[in-house]
Amino acid sequence: MPKIKRLPTHEAHKIAAGQVVERPANAIKELMENSIDAGASRITIYIEDGGKQLIRVVDNGHGMDYEDAQICLEKHATSKIRSINDLATITSYGFRGEALASIAAVGIITLLTKETGSTEGTRVTSHEGNITAETAACPEGTDITITDLFHNVPARAKFLKKRETETRNILQIVQAISLAYPEHHFQLFVDGNLSLNCPAQPTIINRFSQLWGTQTAQHMMPLETTELKKGISLSGAISNHAWFRYDRRTIFFLVNNRWVTNHHLARALVKGYDNVIPHGRYPTACISITIDPEQIDINTHPKKEEVVFEHPRIVEQLIYKAVRTTLERGVSQQIKREVSFVESTSSYAYPGLPARQATADRPVSAFAPPPDPQTYTPPPSMEQQIASPIPRQEQQTAIAAQTTAIPKEAEPYTLIGQFNKTYLLIEQEEGLYLIDQHAAHERILYELFAHRFEDVPTIQLMFPQLIPCNKDDLAILEPHLPLFHEHGIAIEPFGKDQLMIQSTPVHLKNAPLAELIKQVVGWIQEYSSVDKETFIKTVHDKLRAQMACKAAVKAGDKLSNEQMQELLSDLYECPNRFSCPHGRPTGWLFSLPEIERKFRRR
Ligand code: ADP
Ligand code: MG
Repeated sequence: MPKIKRLPTHEAHKIAAGQVVERPANAIKELMENSIDAGASRITIYIEDGGKQLIRVVDNGHGMDYEDAQICLEKHATSKIRSINDLATITSYGFRGEALASIAAVGIITLLTKETGSTEGTRVTSHEGNITAETAACPEGTDITITDLFHNVPARAKFLKKRETETRNILQIVQAISLAYPEHHFQLFVDGNLSLNCPAQPTIINRFSQLWGTQTAQHMMPLETTELKKGISLSGAISNHAWFRYDRRTIFFLVNNRWVTNHHLARALVKGYDNVIPHGRYPTACISITIDPEQIDINTHPKKEEVVFEHPRIVEQLIYKAVRTTLERGVSQQIKREVSFVESTSSYAYPGLPARQATADRPVSAFAPPPDPQTYTPPPSMEQQIASPIPRQEQQTAIAAQTTAIPKEAEPYTLIGQFNKTYLLIEQEEGLYLIDQHAAHERILYELFAHRFEDVPTIQLMFPQLIPCNKDDLAILEPHLPLFHEHGIAIEPFGKDQLMIQSTPVHLKNAPLAELIKQVVGWIQEYSSVDKETFIKTVHDKLRAQMACKAAVKAGDKLSNEQMQELLSDLYECPNRFSCPHGRPTGWLFSLPEIERKFRRR
């Protein structure tokens, strides 16, 4: 007996419709995109019961004439492409003529529309496949209402989430599209209440302020392409080092102004924040990618939310680099020139830190022993530096461009001293900086251990350290001892229940290593289930951060003037210098205007 039966057309249609419109938020997206395609500058959205009861989108776009309005709800009715060849270069949101037909298959539509300059409008209604059109009086633009979404597809209706969840999804679509068009006015009414009102704005950062408040916006920095590759450019805004969230809901990617979801892009963005914000926290960002439409395929899924790039690695690299550069630039403004270029290479040492030697590329500081008068050009005095400040723009370029290079120019600063044996106080043009001595030193050492390990001197201990270690821990540790060796710690099992350390990086000379070893045992167990590469990277990073923490000066350590100077100049040379490896900020600016406001001088 034959088993195959043809589905009735309207049933097949409903199933296909479910791929385009899975939930109310998808319908809202399609309708808003239609409004933008129609050149609207003002879009108002109304929803009730998370969009399940009612969705209404009103725009001031070019509207439709009677004929177009009559057929726009039919399948494959589109004004945007004429043949499949147009697909490669499509710039409008719509192109399949599928959205309205799909929505009509699963909801009840009433559409009012009037073409710009026309005297008469059209009302179209659609209910269970019956479409009727009549002339009607209405404003220019389009006003489309959908009620009872999925009333005829119980299986789909069952999958809809609570009102709050559907509303949140809708809110996210409205946020995304309003970020793509700061120059448009968007409003969202939820169950009769105005929940978002976003009049036109000159910049995306102003839009962030409307959507998430001024506190978020204050942390946002504009992002621009740092280099052009394959004609791909980036723009948008990302949050700075002093901001993070526990979820990814405020990360948006736009590709040719279309909101897309692509976890590779998100990963590249988050990687840019490595060691800047704590692991497992997320920034706020909107990155807009402009790319030749021939280099992407948005046609892989009916919802058009996914995008496939011809050169995905290039796009990801561009994002990563732009994020790093933007963060770096942000810091140059925040902890700006928190250190001077009065390079100190004095012969003192931090606790556990070796004295540094002056070399050709490390000018001798004012604190160092008298230099050779033949070759020595004295560094400019503080007064001289103040008297001839370097043009701001030059400084900015120098800062933005440098990550590890030794800076050549200086902005004047005055080290006021140490506060509470924990913070360094620095006066600069912008105001008063507080640098956390432990966080700053931790970052310096972390970077030193991370990038210039060959420069890290190790020291043979005169009396090898013996560390008790139980049999179980020893068994866990033994296969991973090379990890310590790579970090300059020569450690071997000694008897059945001890470890012997014969040499360590000089910075760790006095650090309590027993505790560090216990921590490593813990990490090895904790990360044993991840793949090998992730395991090695994670444990390496943690070990490095912990070594830095152990070797760094502590809160409560009294520092001499020279030690503070050296800390500052080292910090200045340091990549990622605005936070410690655990994500705490290294410095904080109290701007002059802020201070003056407190004293009511302003
Ligand atoms: P697509 O956007 O893929 O063309 P849709 O089903 O979304 O398909 O829309 C069908 C057609 O209806 C569009 O091509 C457009 O001509 C017209 N249309 C839809 N919404 C609007 C609107 N808000 N303003 C003007 N025209 C619209
Ligand atoms: Mg469309």
